[in-house]
Amino acid sequence: MALRPDEFYDHALAATDDERRLPLARMTGWDVSPFEPDGLRVAPLRPPVLPEPPRHGEDPSNCDACRDQGDGIWFNDSWRLTRIAGVGVPLVLMLHPREHYDMADLPDGLAAELGVLTTHIVRHVQALAHISRAHVYRIGDGGAHLHIWFFARPEGQAQLYGSWMPVWDDLLPEYPADVAEADAALVADALVASIGGRRKAT
Ligand SMILES: [Zn+2]
Repeated sequence: MALRPDEFYDHALAATDDERRLPLARMTGWDVSPFEPDGLRVAPLRPPVLPEPPRHGEDPSNCDACRDQGDGIWFNDSWRLTRIAGVGVPLVLMLHPREHYDMADLPDGLAAELGVLTTHIVRHVQALAHISRAHVYRIGDGGAHLHIWFFARPEGQAQLYGSWMPVWDDLLPEYPADVAEADAALVADALVASIGGRRKAT
């Protein structure tokens, strides 16, 4: 059984200094870390918050992902793909089920479709010129409606390898929106060709 919240906190606290700061992460020592260890310090460890606050859209009647059914670059009867604007990497896409499900609640049929769709989206993003990799993330701490992230890593930018990429994305200047939009359209057209669906919501 996993540690209770208070047990977990005590366990972590035992590794902190007298300001409840943990030592720097091993990841900050990685060659691809965006931060140099000098001058960097870890935020004081906070105690658990219980009960946890609700995420956005816990109630489907108040869920943006359910409401914004017309927003996207590709659609089929069960799924919708959107482009996230204002990012630093060349392309960030997000896949949402049309109906209100979180990942653990996804019926097996939709879960199977998710696997196939994820594979096709990765394939088409990686086929774009000057894109080396599509990273895939599901986190789910902010919104209750399942949303899968696809981050395109720019070719040759080796510091953006691995799990620091979302942090680099936040540090980088905003990527040209017209270029991202054109690449998103290529991915959407390739999806229509490889798996069906359509470019418009209706
Ligand atoms: Zn929803």
